[in-house]
Amino acid sequence: MPRTKDEIISDIETWAKNRLASGEETLYLSEVVVRDSRSVMREEENEIVNMKNKKEAAISKSEPRTTNHEPRITTPQSSDDWKSSTDLPMLKSLAENCTKCDLHLTRTNFVFGVGNPNAKVMVIGEAPGKDEDEKGEPFVGRAGQLLNKMLIAINFPREEVYIANILKSRPPGNRDPKPHEVAACEPYLWKQIEIIKPKMILCVGRVAGNNLLKLESDSLAAMRGKTFDFMGAKVMVTYHPAALMRNPAWKVGAWEDLKKFRKLYDELVGNG
Ligand code: SF4
Repeated sequence: MPRTKDEIISDIETWAKNRLASGEETLYLSEVVVRDSRSVMREEENEIVNMKNKKEAAISKSEPRTTNHEPRITTPQSSDDWKSSTDLPMLKSLAENCTKCDLHLTRTNFVFGVGNPNAKVMVIGEAPGKDEDEKGEPFVGRAGQLLNKMLIAINFPREEVYIANILKSRPPGNRDPKPHEVAACEPYLWKQIEIIKPKMILCVGRVAGNNLLKLESDSLAAMRGKTFDFMGAKVMVTYHPAALMRNPAWKVGAWEDLKKFRKLYDELVGNG
């Protein structure tokens, strides 16, 4: 049985009193009593803090992780209810606890998508990165800022388009998505496209273009400058903004792609 604080202090005090009564080392013994009492109390405080930390860790393990304060709707892993969603908030609430692939184990947030639910233009990337995973929103880091500039350059403010990724959970270390992860996750993107009904889609990066279009040749060069059809929308592919940050010389080609995208948009939709 561990001894209580009061029992230990009482022992120390008794021992100190006996020593004092014998007239020996009075100053030293007073200090010992104070020091030992404080030490016992410190140990108890540490134990309380440790127990509190363990309890909080257990609670956070059992709860879905999030950095915002939106209430979550818990959805069973096997539920396919999201397939009958008729709008984006419904789809998000029914899909956000997805555990269909192992990426749910390492994500901080499910990164659904952001923007105008009635957008005529969708921008699609490959997967959330570190900043996106932390914030729960696609394209929010430095690459996101460059994407905003690219869109503004062709007169599409970020809030007018809808931005999403092929994967909704971050692959560790920003590795490329694996085929089984894409297969598990892409139906959510297809549902987003079905609900939004964009006229045009801009895929940023080889991985996004290749996974959306499933072409035989998967090089970016084979996709750039061409127009594809996907779920009723015209699709064009250009560089990922992160690639442009690493290779600024590619910005010339990206600008050509963006101008073509805008020109086709004006022909299809008009510029009003
Ligand atoms: S990546 Fe997609 S399929 Fe995999 S857990 Fe995340 S939301 Fe589900």
